[in-house]
Amino acid sequence: MSKSNKYRFGTKAIHAGVEPDSATGAIMTPIYQTSTYVQSSPGEHKGYDYSRSQNPTREALEKSIAALENADYGHCFASGLAAIDAVIKTLKPGDEVISTNDLYGGTYRIFTQIFQDFGIHFHFIDMLEASNIEKHITEKTKLIWVETPTNPMMNIIDIKTAANIAKKSNVLLCVDNTFSTPYLQNPLDLGADLVMHSLTKYIAGHSDVIMGALATNNKELSEKLAFIQKASGAVPGPQDCFLVLRGIKTLHLRMQRHCENGAGVANFLKSHPKVDKVFWPGFKSHPNHDIASRQMHDFGGMISFSLKENSVAAATEILKKFELFTLAESLGGVESLSGHPATMTHASIPKAERDKIGLSDSLIRLSVGVEDLEDLIQDLKQALS
Ligand SMILES: *Cc1c(COP(=O)(O)O)cnc(C)c1O
Repeated sequence: MSKSNKYRFGTKAIHAGVEPDSATGAIMTPIYQTSTYVQSSPGEHKGYDYSRSQNPTREALEKSIAALENADYGHCFASGLAAIDAVIKTLKPGDEVISTNDLYGGTYRIFTQIFQDFGIHFHFIDMLEASNIEKHITEKTKLIWVETPTNPMMNIIDIKTAANIAKKSNVLLCVDNTFSTPYLQNPLDLGADLVMHSLTKYIAGHSDVIMGALATNNKELSEKLAFIQKASGAVPGPQDCFLVLRGIKTLHLRMQRHCENGAGVANFLKSHPKVDKVFWPGFKSHPNHDIASRQMHDFGGMISFSLKENSVAAATEILKKFELFTLAESLGGVESLSGHPATMTHASIPKAERDKIGLSDSLIRLSVGVEDLEDLIQDLKQALS
């Protein structure tokens, strides 16, 4: 059931791509820890010749990811960044990319510090008004890159409007869907050509694996990506694919709880006297709440907030007091994490640039986990006291 719309999300999370093992009947996909496969005569084999090209454990995962994103094709990579690397390698020197300006730091780094040197030009623009994209399209534009919600400001970009502009201009639209997961948002259904995931985050969900994925309905694009996957070789190993397959089986349950806890934490913070602003797309007062309501099924567990006492010291004091919101990079695991963008993930962005997008010195980002909400609120209470 690769592209079966017959089943709902939770059923697909458990069953899609996963068949009892043809050799043994094992219900769970075995970890095919092999680099190569027997050939009965030269070039004759059972569909697998070398694990860089394909491996049965990876294949099950790729089918599962494709099914979750309502896609015909899925491709997995050694990391989210390796997936991004593959997308940009479909371009040629002289091509132009229009990208969200409020972008995951690693994506910004590979665009500007690797691919710019290969003659690909990147334009980082404000997409809060998605119609803004159109002004920046030239005959050299080949790709629009959208991340929504953005990190760490939780801005929402209108995927449908971006997709309409892309179609009209004959340009591909890729959406980094890491923050939302396919449980909350399905960019291909909204008109995007390609979806990218850091599986490292919510999809694997247990902070124990690094992996990335791409999904598309475009056969030609899928073939190009499969070629790059094989030719460049940034593929994940079968053990890691098994871990992600296991994680996916509870994706819908985890996401439901992430959303419930996210709403609880956002509302608690909003009413706290020491908190200045809370950035979460679920609030009616969020500038693009209407678009979020239209394109997302719920609002997720990623929240940023700033303090009335706007300083690094004030934020640090709270971060040090947390008992449950562990201070660490990354997000999307079952456990709650906290981060300080100004000194951690976004430290390489100059302060003036940070201030422009509202990323203040006191901004704290939370990845709200699936613990008991009352305990999370209690931890926030004691840390803010
Ligand atoms: C983590 C992340 C990436 C990069 O993925 P890795 O698996 O760490 O390589 C890309 N985009 C977003 C939004 C992320 O959060």
